[in-house]
Amino acid sequence: MAGNAPASVAALKCSAGVKEELETQESIFDPHGVDPNLVRKMEYDALVWSSLHGLVVGDRASQMSGRLPGVGLVHAPISLLPMLFPESHWKQACEVAPIFNELVDRVSLDAKFLQEALSRTKKVDVFTSRLLDIHAKMIDIDKKEEIRLGLHRSDYMLDEQTNLLLQIELNTISSSFPGLSCLVSELHRSLLHQFKQHLGLDPERIPENNAVGHFAEALYKAWAEYNNPRSVVMIVVQTEERNMYDQHWLFTVLKERYQVRSIRKTLAEIDAQGELLPDGTLVVDGEAVAVVYFRAGYAPTDYPSESEWSARLLIEQSCAIKCPSIAYHLAGTKKIQQELAKPNQLERFLESKDDIAKVRKCFAGLWSLDDSSIVKDAIQRPGLYVMKPQREGGGNNIYGDDVRLALQRLEKEGMEEDAAYILMQRIFPTISPAILIREGVSHKDHVISELGVYAAYLRNKANVIINGQSGYLMRTKVSSSNEGGVAAGFAVLDSIYLV
Ligand code: ADP
Ligand code: MG
Ligand code: MG
Repeated sequence: MAGNAPASVAALKCSAGVKEELETQESIFDPHGVDPNLVRKMEYDALVWSSLHGLVVGDRASQMSGRLPGVGLVHAPISLLPMLFPESHWKQACEVAPIFNELVDRVSLDAKFLQEALSRTKKVDVFTSRLLDIHAKMIDIDKKEEIRLGLHRSDYMLDEQTNLLLQIELNTISSSFPGLSCLVSELHRSLLHQFKQHLGLDPERIPENNAVGHFAEALYKAWAEYNNPRSVVMIVVQTEERNMYDQHWLFTVLKERYQVRSIRKTLAEIDAQGELLPDGTLVVDGEAVAVVYFRAGYAPTDYPSESEWSARLLIEQSCAIKCPSIAYHLAGTKKIQQELAKPNQLERFLESKDDIAKVRKCFAGLWSLDDSSIVKDAIQRPGLYVMKPQREGGGNNIYGDDVRLALQRLEKEGMEEDAAYILMQRIFPTISPAILIREGVSHKDHVISELGVYAAYLRNKANVIINGQSGYLMRTKVSSSNEGGVAAGFAVLDSIYLV
């Protein structure tokens, strides 16, 4: 632990009830000010709780931890206490969740819009181009997805200066941490409860978080719509996955609550063991697959050979329910996010003016690189922008002076490569003190946070079976770090305390 804590909360305590409450309330506003002995106790209990409740990931230091469950486990990186978050913005994020679901669904049905909006990107980005090829093949065979399942996570930062909740991105593929996020909320509630006397905080101010229950229910209901009692849910995984416990949580609930079996397969295994029956049934390793849930397949590294691409195509051609379908996947790209932010685009997909206004309110500034005045400004003031390629999983964006260098290079080369990127207004959230714990070691730091709101969507033809907010994930990172991925090692899992 670094630094000396100022006067401890416990030491400040006095007998007058009101004053005591006021002083103890300050603890969450400044976790750095909490008595070091109390912090040590809470840290210890947090580590015990995490280990006993499965708030764990594979340990980097252990060679087999990404392949074999039960080997080389370490607690997930966490924040010791929840982050303060305004209740009004929390409600706003929950309220727009079903509207974003509907938007993704509508966009996914407009094949021409997806192909056209991504046509320039296609020329310079091989990965997006391959996804578009699969999408184009589905257009050619007039493939219809009647049962559509989305397990999304819309991420936001609260911009300090404008006090606006702005969307960072909407994930339509492989939205991670539905399992572990619930556990972090529970851990924080349990700590607030246990140390209530010292902290004076109300555990009920941490909103209920049942992402895993909602996602498992959506997978189950999709499986039920497919209507083959012998079929399984297939989870598409990477060969090595240190975040496997997050996934296992989901499939354990699916098995225990709904008695639905699942299989885990890599794209290479699906290529080797998969076949399409004449009626379109996808059979993998002898099992009919009702639902394909992707926790891989979002990054170029997930396709090291042609075999992975042919597996993706096989899945798309089948009548299995895909989470996501290729169209949902493309609807979640940064380029589409930027296209939808253009004037009059939302109106193409949503009818209600009220819904359109709510969605638009969440949009930060988003621009294509063919907007020369914005490119000029970004070269002059690169710190106010983030440059984003069509990638997922964290660690791909360009910040600060690198934005200027990248834009100047693109200008000089005069190539079409600019179409691989979008420019986004950089959001500056409030910086707060926090205590972060990673691999058993805690650090006092100054941090910023990103709120992710999960949302499930399931429909069969005209019948919308599920459409709602489904829990949340707060991710907190050191304020000096640009990127926010937990798995990528930049951030920790967190929850929120409504104020
Ligand atoms: P990915 O799909 O790789 O997660 P994101 O768009 O979420 O891509 O960007 C990764 C991280 O970069 C985010 O979690 C956030 O920490 C940071 N980031 C992205 N966009 C912005 C922005 N406009 N302002 C500030 N930080 C951003
Ligand atoms: Mg993403
Ligand atoms: Mg992200």
